[in-house]
Amino acid sequence: MQAQRFNPVFSGLGTTIFTVMSALAVRHQAINLGQGFPDEDGPEEIREAAARALQNGPNQYPPMQGLAELRSAIADHSRRFYGLEFDPGSEVLVTSGATEAIGDCIMGLLSRGDEAVVIEPCYDSYRPMLSAMGANIRTVRLMPPEFRLTEAALGEAFSPDTKLILINSPLNPLGRVFDRSELELLAEFLVRYDAYAICDEVYEHLVFDGREQIPLITLPDMRERCVRVGSAGKMFSLTGWKIGWVCGPRCLVEVITKAHQFNTFTTSPALQLGIVEGLRNRVDFAVANTRILEARRNEIAQALAAAGFAVLGSEGTYFITASIRKLSNEQDIDFCRRMTREAGVAAIPLSVFYGDDPPTDLVRFAFCKTAQTIADAGERLCRYFARSPAG
Ligand code: PMP
Ligand code: GLN
Repeated sequence: MQAQRFNPVFSGLGTTIFTVMSALAVRHQAINLGQGFPDEDGPEEIREAAARALQNGPNQYPPMQGLAELRSAIADHSRRFYGLEFDPGSEVLVTSGATEAIGDCIMGLLSRGDEAVVIEPCYDSYRPMLSAMGANIRTVRLMPPEFRLTEAALGEAFSPDTKLILINSPLNPLGRVFDRSELELLAEFLVRYDAYAICDEVYEHLVFDGREQIPLITLPDMRERCVRVGSAGKMFSLTGWKIGWVCGPRCLVEVITKAHQFNTFTTSPALQLGIVEGLRNRVDFAVANTRILEARRNEIAQALAAAGFAVLGSEGTYFITASIRKLSNEQDIDFCRRMTREAGVAAIPLSVFYGDDPPTDLVRFAFCKTAQTIADAGERLCRYFARSPAG
């Protein structure tokens, strides 16, 4: 079959790096610090609530927008943590994970030829989905050492044709948490260019060192311009459940829901009921998990530095990034493959989070793991790099 007969966006893509590196980790029995999933499952009460619902029902199609109980619990969560008011009946949509939510937002809001801005490095699903919708992608690249949003970079990316920006904070992979002054700057651009923001906040509770998670939608004049995307998988360490959501103004959620109805239509009722239990009674888990992950971040930073990496900070998320240049002159992807095969530790090359001309010296490690896993990985890396000559 000739590839040109297919959609060129997808036929031109490889398999996502998370699948590639996880498969390699399994093949080489490596410790998998690549794909971001916790070692330990989230609260038992949540899993029990879902199990009860599987046994007793409902097991038929739930409402297309999501169960009313879950939409209310999502709205209450946004009120409790950020003082946001969303009408559960018209301003909250439940999706099959944040990945679907982001795809629905892109499909619902963009037309062919619109400009969309991404902040690089950006999550790997954004670009293909934007391209498939025929968007022209403009880039704001975060630059070392501080990786901050600047007026100059935003000024180069925005134009009168800009329809929307995708912003992820806390940011996978760099672990940046954008502060109020950066968000205020972005808000000014959205008003000036009459643009929307899709705010990917899946790591919203995972913010370290006393920093504050500030949803862009809470800033003045942003309530009508932003949609906020969340993920129960991240909040409750249940990444396989794929329950996500979109909250925002009615007119945006309405059109995003039109895309959702023909992508997945709805998502498992039992898992939705499990997450109702989580949002109602176990948000303390998400908050406590932040303190635990902060400790894991410190441990992995120390272990990576001891092994010879130059470690960047991580202000939030599951992830920390490090430069490999003191250890090797390889491209990041070759380095990650070798490290998985030979050192027995898998990580993700950062170049996959960029479009053109990516940096090739940075790799991402997931630390949403037990202290023992981090210690074992640290030991393997120290042992391996102590005897591995620079590549
Ligand atoms: N956005 C970001 C930044 C992510 O890291 C992920 C990965 N889980 C997602 C979206 C997708 O979340 P979900 O698993 O709920 O689809
Ligand atoms: N979000 C996860 C990560 O960045 C991966 C999710 C996936 O495999 N699609 O590691």
